[in-house]
Amino acid sequence: MYNVKSMKAEEFISHEEILETMKFAEENKNNKELIDSIIERAHDCKGLSHREALLLLDCDLEEENKKIFELAMEIKQKFYGNRIVMFAPLYLSNYCINGCTYCPYHYKNKHISRKKLTQEDIVKEVTALQDMGHKRLALEAGEDPVNNPIEYILECIQTIYDIKHKNGAIRRVNVNIAATTIENYRKLKEAGIGTYILFQETYHKEHYEELHPTGPKHNWAYHTEAMDRAMQGGIDDVGLGVLFGLNLYRYDFTGILMHAEHLEAALGVGPHTISVPRLRSADDINPDDFSNGIDDDTFEKIVAVLRVAVPYTGIIISTRESKTCRERALRVGVSQISGGSSTSVGGYAEKEAKEDNSAQFDVSDNRTLDEIMLWLLDLGYIPSFCTACYREGRTGDRFMQLVKAGQISNCCHPNALMTLKEYLEDYASEDTKEKGEEVIKKEIENITNPKVKELCKERLEKIAKGERDFRF
Ligand code: SF4
Ligand code: SF4
Repeated sequence: MYNVKSMKAEEFISHEEILETMKFAEENKNNKELIDSIIERAHDCKGLSHREALLLLDCDLEEENKKIFELAMEIKQKFYGNRIVMFAPLYLSNYCINGCTYCPYHYKNKHISRKKLTQEDIVKEVTALQDMGHKRLALEAGEDPVNNPIEYILECIQTIYDIKHKNGAIRRVNVNIAATTIENYRKLKEAGIGTYILFQETYHKEHYEELHPTGPKHNWAYHTEAMDRAMQGGIDDVGLGVLFGLNLYRYDFTGILMHAEHLEAALGVGPHTISVPRLRSADDINPDDFSNGIDDDTFEKIVAVLRVAVPYTGIIISTRESKTCRERALRVGVSQISGGSSTSVGGYAEKEAKEDNSAQFDVSDNRTLDEIMLWLLDLGYIPSFCTACYREGRTGDRFMQLVKAGQISNCCHPNALMTLKEYLEDYASEDTKEKGEEVIKKEIENITNPKVKELCKERLEKIAKGERDFRF
């Protein structure tokens, strides 16, 4: 029985409700009147139900699709402007006891290099990341209570926050580790993490169990209820995601929105972010073995409809996607991207030798962070290294209230300019610096509050003189 407020996975991600939703969308497919009324209503930026969203996703009426994309771009502009938040993944360990059939870290894979960073390795990796200009990391680790216990993860977080190198600093550490207990989530919260990220992979229980034949991850309900436990453990910001390509995309698209609705209904705050990874090739993994891959057009439509359905939730895309695909997704909804990423354990300080491969997947976008910065600036975006909300305690419902009141952009915009300025001063190539200064000069005029504008101008001057870490 479907119950959005239930704390049982089978009830808030009800299989029957997803099937009913898919049936509803099929029965009403291309119902112009209904679709137009949903698009019209969605201009209020209050989001869509999972049923409404799937109807829009399924629509193939040209005129209506044009309206959906326009609306997605309008909502993106309203909440996120032309700012793109930057981050990098940091792989701590690829030891894993699970048997996920789509991931090269599955325990049966004997030819991948198994690695785990020591605290000394972390200092080297994070120093290299700081030297690129990164301020926000997403930690990644396989599930292995012996090699990667919670104490190891906590120690790594502490090490990372303590590294001060030149003007560099990691100011926000997000964590993507296996589903765990409320007690462990409490420890992560106390360690000062930003967002807790956990991909559902697929919401389809039966299929999920086939894809995870062994290991603790096999337990679909425990995995699906992880965000509830994380929030009960005091973590305010959680990040959802499915791995598109594993299961039918319409099913998982509906599932992820039901999950978002559940978090809002049962715990009072929707997801902070949604990630939209697609299956990629990797050691021992061939995406062709999975028959549910989606093309770039469908992918772009998913991003656009998500943007309309959950306007307050950041959308993340990684270097799994190519430059062209990222450009399309940025236009219609993505607000956060990684850059200059290594998906190996220890790939930043030193490039891995081919025979020593420890990567989780092949990267499509291999450009350096500086190349990505210049590309974004040329496209008219403001790359931002802002981490202010988390550090000002603007998390969970405090954050959502500001977003919903349309107030957050008063902070995001000047913060984006100031963190971009820091990047230009400390890490940028000549071309990026020149372009970035041009963008700052133009964008400072778009700060509407005169006091904030003045203060931001003063702070930009101070940054040029060597001061760092201002925020609104
Ligand atoms: Fe382990 Fe995660 Fe890979 Fe599964 S997806 S094998 S849990 S690292
Ligand atoms: Fe994100 Fe807050 Fe910074 Fe805006 S001000 S970019 S919401 S951290």
